[in-house]
Amino acid sequence: MKLVRPLLTQLHAYMPGEQPKMKGLIKLNTNENPYPPSPKVLRTVKAAVDGRLRLYPNPTAHELRKKLAKLHHCATENIIIGNGSDELLALATRAFVEPKAASTAEFSRSTVQYFTPSYSLYPVLAEIHGSRQNAVPLRADFSLPSPRELKRDRQWDFKAALSFITTPNAPTGRGYSAAELRALCKAQQGVVILDEAYVDFAQEDAQRLALEFPHVLVSRTFSKAYSLCFQRIGYFIGHPLLIAALDKVRDSYNVNGLGQIAALATLSDLPYYLRNFRRIIATREQLRRELTGLGFAVLPSQANFLFTKPPCFPAGEWLKKLRSRKVLVRWFNSDTGRDYLRITIGSEREAAMLLRAVRSILK
Ligand SMILES: *Cc1c(COP(=O)(O)O)cnc(C)c1O
Repeated sequence: MKLVRPLLTQLHAYMPGEQPKMKGLIKLNTNENPYPPSPKVLRTVKAAVDGRLRLYPNPTAHELRKKLAKLHHCATENIIIGNGSDELLALATRAFVEPKAASTAEFSRSTVQYFTPSYSLYPVLAEIHGSRQNAVPLRADFSLPSPRELKRDRQWDFKAALSFITTPNAPTGRGYSAAELRALCKAQQGVVILDEAYVDFAQEDAQRLALEFPHVLVSRTFSKAYSLCFQRIGYFIGHPLLIAALDKVRDSYNVNGLGQIAALATLSDLPYYLRNFRRIIATREQLRRELTGLGFAVLPSQANFLFTKPPCFPAGEWLKKLRSRKVLVRWFNSDTGRDYLRITIGSEREAAMLLRAVRSILK
């Protein structure tokens, strides 16, 4: 007798970037922030480790939602917190998408839609749910096709139950303007999630679209810009009807107590983080110039990583050569990603060590 659903035996699970045990590696592969949480955040979390660990945390992360609502000029009912934004992306698939189409007329109801290349978790979520996937290529330069182009020469479904748009995009780093995102949201009938995991490193955000359109959600995380991957805190902003639907399918205690405390402390120390954003952006621009000078084709980036086509050897070779020099970057062996490396922006020192390794490979 089969103990596991056939759907799972065939599943291509999500492949997270490596968290190596080896000491002394320069880790530029998972878009983590090179700078630690602020001293105040660390103090607050340490002070919270006491007898209260025996209690359940606040089930709705109420204080955190209240504070985020104030920050984003909306109501507490517009916000839901997740165990990382990844959890909320999974909840959205369960809340808005039919696992199987009853008939061809119902195809859109069971369709999860996204552009390629973008975040490789989306197809996995669709697969787990058993729903249909519609992967639509971006333009050749990785920019966003207009609604008219999508209608004319791409198989985009304007009625898809759920569409994920990563902005700024990963792994390309390209930012999309709020104007072009608004045009796409306006043409779309199903739920749209604007995944803004990297938005703090961008010139523009699209947050207002979540309050303007009842079918648009904006996804944010404390992981990348706020140095808090370890604590797993993400959130959605959107219409109370969609937020309430997500709230129905989440676990009662999905957000751990120390995470809630860490995120709250983060929000009361924002200037520290703003300084780090500026520093990371400055390192990004300098690294882009230096790599370009060494023959790399580097895409402009609005995120905390660069997407680049390296010279002389295939990207997969570069991955190995850099690793043997103790520098870890990310390579996606997919049709659209195979020729590129994705390099996380580390500290100034890490950027210098990366450049040293690159020069020694080119010698
Ligand atoms: C890192 C990342 C996430 C997940 O963030 P968590 O809040 O840590 O789960 C979501 N979307 C994109 C595009 C990401 O790169």
